[in-house]
Amino acid sequence: MNILIIGNSAAGTAAVEAIRTRDRQSSIVQLTDELHPLYSRCLLSYYLAGTISRERLQYREMDFHERMRVQLHTGKRAVELDTNRQHVVCDDGSDYLFDKLLIATGSSAKLPGNIPAGIQGVCVLRTLDDVETIREHVRYARCAVVLGGGLIGMKAACALRECGLETKVVVRSKRVLSQMIDDGASQIIGRRLLENRIEVLTETDISEIRSQDHRLVGVETDQGQVIPCELLILAKGVHPNTELIQDTDIRKRQGIETDPYMQTSHENIFAAGDVAEAFDITTEEHAINALWTCAVQQGRIAGLNIIGEQEAYDGAVGMNSLDICNSPLISYGITSPKDGSRYQMLVYEQPANNVYKKIVLKDHRIKGIILLGRIDNAGVLLSLIQRKADVSAFEHELLDDRFNFAKLVGYGDASVLEQYRQW
Ligand SMILES: Cc1cc2nc3c(=O)[nH]c(=O)nc-3n(C[C@H](O)[C@H](O)[C@H](O)COP(=O)(O)OP(=O)(O)OC[C@H]3O[C@@H](n4cnc5c(N)ncnc54)[C@H](O)[C@@H]3O)c2cc1C
Repeated sequence: MNILIIGNSAAGTAAVEAIRTRDRQSSIVQLTDELHPLYSRCLLSYYLAGTISRERLQYREMDFHERMRVQLHTGKRAVELDTNRQHVVCDDGSDYLFDKLLIATGSSAKLPGNIPAGIQGVCVLRTLDDVETIREHVRYARCAVVLGGGLIGMKAACALRECGLETKVVVRSKRVLSQMIDDGASQIIGRRLLENRIEVLTETDISEIRSQDHRLVGVETDQGQVIPCELLILAKGVHPNTELIQDTDIRKRQGIETDPYMQTSHENIFAAGDVAEAFDITTEEHAINALWTCAVQQGRIAGLNIIGEQEAYDGAVGMNSLDICNSPLISYGITSPKDGSRYQMLVYEQPANNVYKKIVLKDHRIKGIILLGRIDNAGVLLSLIQRKADVSAFEHELLDDRFNFAKLVGYGDASVLEQYRQW
């Protein structure tokens, strides 16, 4: 069988590994429009900050593709897909026939319409090349503005501050990380940022860019404030790279629609990662979960089904973990339910110590968590979510720092014991 994988990142790699656990014979060709060896995007901001070396970005050993018997073709952008003839054409004219195709093309940074292109100092943080460009500007920049207060915006702001730049974050919403955490946790993070001299301008947008000789010199906000800066990072979210299926009959909403086997509406074409819409366990809807962990799980499922293993995807759960100014943060699932009446909320706060913990329950099952400042029992809580365990017997202990796997056994519940054995 000829397997073609477009994308050499989290989803594509997981697919290769899954295929090779059971099939050493099929030919696998993998395409990527990047030139670098496989690297972890999640670590890019730490490389920018200088806290890790470029070598540490490497996601698999250098001989990974050779060992996996994969022909990796770098620097090739797939631009055309013919679903009838089952073939893909690249920007250099090369073409590839396939029996099964995995589209793992990920996503790209969203570019706000009012920001003109070609201004030096206006950057995005998505690829290793982007980081190298940002590092060039960091050399001479004194002030930086980050537009967007989500995961990537926060990571960028912390990294630039670490580089010694005066850093401001401009956020449209009322608080940072509004998709990820609730108001209580966000307030603590806002304070931590300020303590570390990262100013956050909420309910604000950038209305205009100021430049001289095509070089950024400042931004103007819709509140009339002018901020002199030499570096602007656009972090207003991502959009899935679905261009390849544009002229095909493969179904898409926001991302490429997939079934539980990560199969698209074409039986020989699969999709996984940031480009794919898959079932989300917590919201019980199909959505894009643009997260590394989800891309890996989906890539693995796609790989197995490409070789006919019939394994279904349990569904994605939005999970993030990051460190903001030395405050570790983990969020998982639904953290601010829209219809609060159907959920029970357990909260523990110690603002003076920058600690905030929240557990969201529905029918005695955990649907979401926020752990800020103290994340010791994250493992046991995440396991309870994944197992969909009934936690009514020990609900009152869930927020206790000392709650751990051993405690669960103490409750002696047969189902808990059984789950514990499986862990
Ligand atoms: C700075 C940063 C920090 C992040 N931090 C976290 C984090 O802490 N936790 C977390 O869970 N997630 C994080 N993410 C998100 C995470 O990196 C993504 O969810 C993940 O990379 C998605 O993997 P993917 O394989 O779907 O796609 P991508 O990683 O986007 O890779 C897509 C691949 O497809 C290739 N490609 C695209 N189009 C074409 C084409 N037409 N032809 C050929 N090749 C093509 C690209 O070259 C690339 O190899 C972060 C992302 C960034 C940018």
